[in-house]
Amino acid sequence: MRSTLIAGNWKMNGSLQSIIQLIESIKAGGVGSAQLAVCPPAVYLMKVGGMLEGSDIALGSQNVCDQSSGAYTGEVSAQMLKEAGCSYAIVGHSERRSLYLESDALVANRYAMAVESGLVPILCLGETLEERQSGVTESVVGRQLDAVLEKFGVDAIAKGVIAYEPVWAIGTGQVATPEQAQMVHEFIRGKISALNSDVASKVQILYGGSMNPGNAAELLSQADIDGGLIGGASLKAADFLAIAQAV
Ligand code: PEP
Repeated sequence: MRSTLIAGNWKMNGSLQSIIQLIESIKAGGVGSAQLAVCPPAVYLMKVGGMLEGSDIALGSQNVCDQSSGAYTGEVSAQMLKEAGCSYAIVGHSERRSLYLESDALVANRYAMAVESGLVPILCLGETLEERQSGVTESVVGRQLDAVLEKFGVDAIAKGVIAYEPVWAIGTGQVATPEQAQMVHEFIRGKISALNSDVASKVQILYGGSMNPGNAAELLSQADIDGGLIGGASLKAADFLAIAQAV
């Protein structure tokens, strides 16, 4: 039986004052059975990490460098993230892939660095609207997953979390139907299962893309959906907690 993870990706939002309020409100709420994680902007990780000490809420970063240290201006290493209290690191978010041109190969290397350092990477996979309409969803998502599988093997997948995030559903209010999401989640699990059925049965596959308190319960009730990666709705404590309580 897989546990459920509800992770909030705050992206580049908030201020010191607003994130303090947000964390205080999330900590004060009841979350039910789900594991919660929050991924604040990097500059706030230490602060949020301190505020989360003693709570069951995990801390995650929005990215992680593929190198361990050195001349990589603007990057943050896995060890630094661990020192800040992170246990998760998002890699390959579609905004990183599309706006900052992160390739499948770079995302795979970031993933591997997270695993090597003891962080749990949350590997984002997903197709654009054009790709869905052209019927290539599975080949796109499969290619993104293969970048990790072919270089680092199925054992690396066992140490991470996958997030299926259709690009057309991110921040658009246009959520995938539970059936659309389930089909891709099943495809992802099937692809892993062809290599190792034990890993496939254990790996958490989250859905991300306009998940909110109104649609969470139905999405989360699908057989292969093991949680959510939440953008916009994670910035409101009440919505984030309501999604967690929908589990
Ligand atoms: C995301 O950016 O990972 C995301 C799922 O965003 P939203 O929930 O706002 O669609």
